[in-house]
Formats: sequence, C-alpha cells, structure tokens
Amino acid sequence: MRALTWHGHHDVRVDTVPDPEIINPRDAIIKVTATAICGSDLHLYDGVIPGMMPGDILGHEFMGEVVETGPKSTLEKGQKVVVPFTISCGSCYFCQKQQYSACDNSNPVDAQDLSEPLYGHAMSALFGYSHLTGGYAGGQSEYVRVPFSDVGPIVVPDHVEDEKVLFLSDILPTGWMAAENADIEPGDTVAVWGCGPVGLFAIQSALLMGAKQVIGIDHHPHRLELARSLGAKIVDFSRTHVGEALMEMSGGIGPDAVIDAVGMEAHGFAPDNVIEVVKQKVGVAADRGHALREALITCRKGGRVSVPGVYGGFLDKFPLGAMMQKGLQLRTGQTHVQKYTKPLLEKILNGEIDTTFLISHRLPLEQGPEGYKNFHDNQNEWTKVVLRPE
Ligand SMILES: [Zn+2]
Ligand SMILES: [Zn+2]
Repeated sequence: MRALTWHGHHDVRVDTVPDPEIINPRDAIIKVTATAICGSDLHLYDGVIPGMMPGDILGHEFMGEVVETGPKSTLEKGQKVVVPFTISCGSCYFCQKQQYSACDNSNPVDAQDLSEPLYGHAMSALFGYSHLTGGYAGGQSEYVRVPFSDVGPIVVPDHVEDEKVLFLSDILPTGWMAAENADIEPGDTVAVWGCGPVGLFAIQSALLMGAKQVIGIDHHPHRLELARSLGAKIVDFSRTHVGEALMEMSGGIGPDAVIDAVGMEAHGFAPDNVIEVVKQKVGVAADRGHALREALITCRKGGRVSVPGVYGGFLDKFPLGAMMQKGLQLRTGQTHVQKYTKPLLEKILNGEIDTTFLISHRLPLEQGPEGYKNFHDNQNEWTKVVLRPE
C-alpha cells in the first residue's frame, strides 16, 4: 500500500510499504477514506519529538471503512468509523476512570522503556507519533491496523460526509477538553493563545459552555479572522501588547481562564522565545514556553489554566511563583478522546457544532509531502489539510 512516511527533519515521503495485518484478536483493519495533518504532526516534521525512526508511518487523525476484523473486534465489515488518536484498552485502571490517554496496556513494554525515565511513568500509545508512544503505524496511508477496535473507533452514519466527522479523531475532542479543563462558568472571560485548529475548537467549545467573551490571540490574520467568525474577540500579538489588552478587556482583573493552544514551538520575538529557539535548535532544551508564560502571568488571581498545547521535555523559567501566589489551577494532558466522541458526534449530527470551516486544503495522499511543507511554511492560509488516499 501507499503511506506517508517520516525520514527526518522536514523530510516526509509517500512510500510503498507492506499492507497491515491483523495481529491481535481485537484488531481491525480500516481502509482510510480521509486523514488530516495535525499541528502536532509539525513537531515531528520539525524533528523536535524524540523516538522517530526513518520509515515510520505518520498520521493520527483518520477515518474510513472497516475491511477486516479480528475474532474479538466488535466492528463489522463495511462500517464507517472515526478512530481516536489515543490507543486505549478500555479495561485498565486508567481506562476504567475514562482517562483513556493514560492507558497502561497499549504501549508495548520495549517502547515504555523510552518514556519511563523521561516522565516517571510509561506513556500510553498514540497512532503515528514516535516510538515513545508505541511506534504504531499511523493513518496517513491506504490501510491501517487499529488495535483495541472494540474500544476506540466510533461508528458514524453512512450518510454523513467524512469532513463533518473526521475531526472527532483528535482536534475537536482536544479543543473541547481544553475548554472543559478551564472549568468555564457562565459570564467568564477566556483567553486562548493560538488560533490554530485546537485553539479555534477551544474557542467554539468555550462559547458553547457559556463563556461571556472569548479572546483569540495569534498573529496570522486569516486565523484571527476565523476566530472572529466564531464569535471571539481577537488580539494580534504582533501589533498589540497582549497583557495590557487582556487587562483592558477583562475589566482590569485579567481573564478568568487561559488556554495555551500553542505548545512547545511558540512563535514570536519576545526575548525568552528567541533564546529558546536557539536552545531547541542545539538540543539543549526541548520546549519553548512563551505562550504558556504569558498565559500564567496574565491570568487573573484564582483563575484556571488549561494546556492542550503539546510539550515534550523541560521548560526553563516556568513562572511557578505566579501560579502559587495567584492561586492558579493548571490542567493539561493528551486528550481522553474516547470519552468525548459520542457526545460530540451528537452535537455534530444535531447541528450544534460544525468543524468543516477549518479545512483550507484537500489533497490526494500522494501529495502529502506538499501538504506538510505548505502547512508548515504558510500557517496563515493553510489552516487544515485533509488527505485522501485514491
Ligand atoms: Zn492531532
Ligand atoms: Zn487501558
């Protein structure tokens, strides 16, 4: 089959690779009909996530048709399914608590050895996201093996277009959980750093949860425009002092909740960021944290901090003092996708949520490398790329 594979820094290719096969009784094989490139795939593209090996198949946002099932899969051939990017067994201590992204059984033991020294505990498995998270082949391919297919995939009605439900695989639940982690109360002012896909869906979710005003912060004019079209107020950090603007917009107290949807590759020319860009390039520090620092510093006293943005390593100059002295609460984590797919599918089907506005480009899988390059180089215009195997 054809699959999009990683070969190093800014080097992805479409290769011919062996078809996936059923390995475990709970597996299913999905024929991929649509798959998206995620902002977090760009961290792999930039080579800042450890544990990648040349030839790894990328992609953790995908959906398709069930074409083969293991004896213990609950899926049926021909069903249309969306697959969560988190691979979860459904029965361990964590899965029982619906903390699916902390599953203890999905990451094979040899891969756990990589993440345990780094994080204190072995990470759970994700599709197409390095050998730290299991080294599972991703879904930017014609076919993909889905482990624990009785737990993860959600069956969607045949008549619903792929593009309406594809983002249940990651970014819609991720934006929703980001807003949920911010404990939004009616009347809140919520500030969101980063108007990429997750930031935009967090904005949409925060408004649905009753926030009075949501403020999107970015510097790409088109992304800010999308935030505005969802009902957010906007701050362009390249023209406006973010802290002063947020104080003014929140009646002088600061936002009740702040959401960092930027993560470890923050942009901009603030001094802390310039130093960290250099450190990251020479491999001394893994994370750049300008957005997170600004979020913590501007958040009101007693406010809530939610971090859906991806971080991988250690962060210098973390303003723990501000957190402690202001009594902030911080919540973060990979998304417990399986917990959110059903309620969010309902909201899509009844018209409460539409995510198709985000898609800027549609390409055949063969043009995947072009999709990565443009999504990386032109974040203003390329807001979301959907790939289709032919
Ligand atoms: Zn993603
Ligand atoms: Zn589990």
